[in-house]
Amino acid sequence: MKIIEDKFLPNHFVNRYENITIEFLKQHNISAVMTDLDNTLVAFDDRDPNDNVIKWVKTLEASNIKLLILSNGRQERVKAFAELHGIDYINSAKKPLLKNFHEGLKRLGTKKKNTVMVGDQLMTDVLGANRVGIRSILVIPVKEKDGWATYLNRRIERVIMKYFKKKNMITWED
Ligand SMILES: [Mg+2]
Repeated sequence: MKIIEDKFLPNHFVNRYENITIEFLKQHNISAVMTDLDNTLVAFDDRDPNDNVIKWVKTLEASNIKLLILSNGRQERVKAFAELHGIDYINSAKKPLLKNFHEGLKRLGTKKKNTVMVGDQLMTDVLGANRVGIRSILVIPVKEKDGWATYLNRRIERVIMKYFKKKNMITWED
């Protein structure tokens, strides 16, 4: 069904954020990355960035790829994580609502076609990106366990992923 694809199909399926390399981004003309935090960069209950996250952030920085954390998480959590490494952030973003996707684009100062949203959820990250008209990359959640607020989203997501699978629309790139 076209409506499901329009709303929920990401442009790319990439196992982990670390596999989103500079080469990959350049190949797709991406100069700015908005990224989810919980279960995309770290487990939802993990407070601090680990060495791998820091390495990835530094790699993007070194190649002049702009980065912004767009998270539905609370301020204390997102701020503590982002400020430690000087990453710009928007907390309590209410994805998939569009307001903060627009705000994110404004802050990054990039065009939609050169901007990508990275996240682990179809119902928030990918839906918002598709609605606002930027590219999207779905990653596998860092941890299988989620916060309670995600329970319903995950149930719906499983149904949609089943549909994509049946239609052969899922190709994981690494
Ligand atoms: Mg997430």
